[in-house]
Order: sequence, then structure tokens, then C-alpha cells
Amino acid sequence: MISSWIPCCAEVNVRTYFRLLNFAVLLALFLAGVASASAADFKACVRALRSEAAAKGISGQTFDKAMAGIEPDPGVLDSVDNQPEFTTPIWDYLAGLVDDQRIADGQARLAELAPVLADVERKFGVDRYTLVAVWGVETDYGRNMGRRPLLRSLATVSCFGNRQQYFRNELLATLGILQSGDVPPEHLVGSWSGAFGHTQFMPSTFQRLAVDFDGDGRRDIVGSIPDAFASTANYLKDAGWMSGQPWGYEVLLPEKFSGPSGRRARRALAQWNKFGVRQLDGTALSGAERAALVLPAGTAGPAFIVFRNYDAIFSYNAAESYALAIALLSDRLRGAGPIRAAWPTDNPGLTRAGRRELQQLLIERGYDIGEADGIIGQRTRDAVKAFQASAGLPADGFAGTKVLSALKAQQKRDE
Ligand code: CA
Repeated sequence: MISSWIPCCAEVNVRTYFRLLNFAVLLALFLAGVASASAADFKACVRALRSEAAAKGISGQTFDKAMAGIEPDPGVLDSVDNQPEFTTPIWDYLAGLVDDQRIADGQARLAELAPVLADVERKFGVDRYTLVAVWGVETDYGRNMGRRPLLRSLATVSCFGNRQQYFRNELLATLGILQSGDVPPEHLVGSWSGAFGHTQFMPSTFQRLAVDFDGDGRRDIVGSIPDAFASTANYLKDAGWMSGQPWGYEVLLPEKFSGPSGRRARRALAQWNKFGVRQLDGTALSGAERAALVLPAGTAGPAFIVFRNYDAIFSYNAAESYALAIALLSDRLRGAGPIRAAWPTDNPGLTRAGRRELQQLLIERGYDIGEADGIIGQRTRDAVKAFQASAGLPADGFAGTKVLSALKAQQKRDE
């Protein structure tokens, strides 16, 4: 921040330069003061956690070994308010999560791991498609379990920010996992919020519900896929999973629908029939269960009737977009087609293959965005913006279908 003032200073007079320099020095001193104050705060906070840990049965030895030299991670604090499932429109979120690549990968895993999935199904009553869909959405089938050391992330949010009590509990649970020897220390890495393993359990959830399924005496959702599947199934069972029931299905709304909606507004299916809700083939809904009507994008988008199992999935991460991604991916893994209704947008988000294609086209046009990895970061957004401006499009930086079409058209013209 301070260094960016230097070019401006070359153009101003000497007095202003010194005034700015003084200000810069003061600011630097101030920031250093803040940093050292918070370093002292952090140390004091960690010291206080030591006695909280002791009260939970964590030995001083475990604590000291685990927490030695730990420093706060500022990157974690930036992530607290930036969860994609709350900031991305649902159709863009789903486009990247329920794409052809994830469906094909999931089907390959289903074939490869059929024996263990059958055992888990038998023991917990949760179907394999749902389990593999949770795995696919959470970590892309174990490819992306997160790389942040759990203790460092959790110590940071236990001492700074406004959910300290919640995260302290997770930190203490992580220390408990370490002390029990279930998961080796080098495997205790994950998301900024402390979720870890193939299906991203929070440490306290792990303590409550993780299962040793491969019989080695350790509950290890990082190093053992059978343990991860069984733990996930146990979680869903605990959340009220009803064996053999669907999560729900897509439905049609009448022309002018004015009934209730939302996961909590449960009605008998007969009641939904009275509101004019119909199955996709136009017939009435049938069954004795109570169900809710979920309209993730309002009445103008797709509509879904959902049952108890949808709530069980929802409880995994408490976001509609997330629950729907797992539900829809599980259907695709069962062999169902995509949903019928269109999302209310004329510029939908891209699949990961589409994102890579977009990046490749930007690279070919000379934009410096690194590799075409399918991850839309700041450099890709900036390049999209610059391209949009050059092509006379609204420059919003959104990597969607429209800008990909424009890039393709541009490339055709250049050939
Ligand atoms: Ca095990």
C-alpha cells in the first residue's frame, strides 16, 4: 500500500513529498504497532486456550507440541465472509459442480469402489449415489481436500473475528483428534474453517460421528476412503436419513403459483396438488409423505418437491445451493438427465471444461492469466473485463456463456 505512493511522489514538489513520507512513516509505525499488539493478543489468547484444552482432557504435552510456534494466518480472516455458496448465483454454482466431468468421474468411482459402497449401504442405509455425490461436491472425489493446517486456521479464528467461541470448540476437537491418534498430524489440513478429509467434516462432527470402517482401529477420513464413506453415511443417518426414500424431484408449477415455498413449509402432497403443482409428465403428485416446495430462483426458475432426505443433505452445509448440488449430482450418477426448467438468466455460468476453454482463448489472445486451470481467479476476471471492454460488451468481468461465445466468434473472425 505504501510503496504504491512512490510513483506519485516523483511528480509532486519536495515539501509534499516529505509530508507524504512523514505520513507513510507514521502509517508504517502505526501498522507495526497494530501487528505487534495483535501478536501479543494472539499469544495471550493461545495461552488461555491451553487451560480450556486441559479442561477438555487435552494434555499439556499434546497442546504444547501441537501449538508450538503457531502464528495467525491473515488469509483465513479474509475467507470468513466469502463463501462461494452464498455469493455466487445458484445456477453458476451448480454449473461448475454438476458438470459432465464430475458426473463421469463419479461414475468411475462408483464402479471402482462398488464393494465398499455396498457394505456401507447395507450398514447405514444411505445409498451410494448420495455418498459419492457428497464426496464429489465437497472435494472433487478427494482431489481437493484443502491445504491449510487446521490448527493454524482454527487458532486464528479462535482468537480474532466474531465467531471465536464456535471456532474454539473446533480447535479443541482438533486437538482431541490429534491426541487420540485417529488422524496423523500431517493429515490435519483442510479448508480455512477447519473442514477436512474426503467429505470435509468439521472436527467436532468428526468427534461425534466419524466411523472406523476399514477395521484398523483408527477413524481416518483423510487416509481411508471406507472410513470417509461410512462416516458420511453415519452423519446422514444421524441427520434423519430415511432409507430407500428419494431426496425429492423436479416439478412443474401452474401458470400463476401463489402457494407457500421453502424447506420449512411442509404440506401433504395432496395439498401441493391443490396448489396446482404437478409431476414433469403433468400428472398429480402421489404419496403419503409431507413435502416442501423449493424454488431456488423464485417461480421463474426450476421447482423441486423435497422430502426428509433433502433436509439431511441440507444439514451438511446449510446452504440451498449446496444441498441442491449434491441432490442433483446424485440423480445424475443414478443415470437421470439434467433438470428440465431453465434458470432465469440469459448468461449462465460455465462448466469447468467451459472455464478452461475460456481461459485458453484468453491466453491465445495474449492475456496473461497463467494456466488454463478452470479456476476463475482475479487475473481471469480482469482479463475477461479487458476483453469485454475491447469487444464493446458490458465489462463486468463475469466468466459466463456470453463472453465465451464472444471469444469464440472473435477467434473465428481472426482465422
Ligand atoms: Ca480406519
